[in-house]
Amino acid sequence: TEAALRQAQKMEAVGQLTGGLAHDFNNLLTGVIGSLELMQRRLAAGRPEDVGRYVAAATASANRAAALTHRLLAFSRRQPLAPKPVDANELVTSMEELLRRTIGESIRLRIVATEGLWRTLCDPHQLESAVLNLSINARDAMPDGGRLTIETGNARVEPGKDASALDVPPGDYIRILVSDTGTGMDPGTVERAFEPFFTTKPIGQGTGLGLSMVYGFARQSNGHARIVSVAGRGTTVQIYLPRHREDGTEAEEAAPAAASARG
Ligand code: ADP
Repeated sequence: TEAALRQAQKMEAVGQLTGGLAHDFNNLLTGVIGSLELMQRRLAAGRPEDVGRYVAAATASANRAAALTHRLLAFSRRQPLAPKPVDANELVTSMEELLRRTIGESIRLRIVATEGLWRTLCDPHQLESAVLNLSINARDAMPDGGRLTIETGNARVEPGKDASALDVPPGDYIRILVSDTGTGMDPGTVERAFEPFFTTKPIGQGTGLGLSMVYGFARQSNGHARIVSVAGRGTTVQIYLPRHREDGTEAEEAAPAAASARG
């Protein structure tokens, strides 16, 4: 959970850094364009003597801009995934204390760790970060309090409708639902919410990276994430992650916590 918190803080920092960098980058670009324009004017006026000076100025600005983007790339480079078998019930239950501290006292927290949950194969630190990010979003959507529910369950994705709606191969998955009773999103926001840097929050508060990180994590883990939201009612983010089979025998087992992939 310390790692999850650090990851969330890092994403926040990346966002702030990016905003600042875009501004600096723009200033440097303005310098390059200005030098090029002056160069062009001198050449048009038949006075090539000063051109060398402007070439030097443009090159210096462009080099600084390149150094800036290198810094951004180094900073935002994702940690590689380190997948292992994960008990998501254990993971979300172990986050209870951190989550309570994060959402404050006006929001009630309910963790539903469904019995018989299959294990999944994913990077546990990234899953923690995802749950924490979703909980922070839920908190932000409930300024006057409400309820945050985190619920696990098994999900059998059938070939056809289920699988194509989820854009994953048919098979066994676990799912983790993070629901709030907050503001909800209008359809246009739902559509764009997974985009990196998409945010409706004031500058300095939102990075627009939380949900894109959640989505990227789910896809890289061979699962999926999707949003079900009703403006004025609340939001559920669903994360699907593939079932991990320890060995062949489990395939025959019943699925006590299985639920339809829909709903
Ligand atoms: P950020 O939270 O920094 O804005 P995210 O990528 O996590 O970035 O979210 C993008 C946008 O999606 C938010 O600005 C908000 O408009 C919307 N959003 C995300 N989660 C929720 C939620 N639980 N309830 C309502 N809106 C949400």
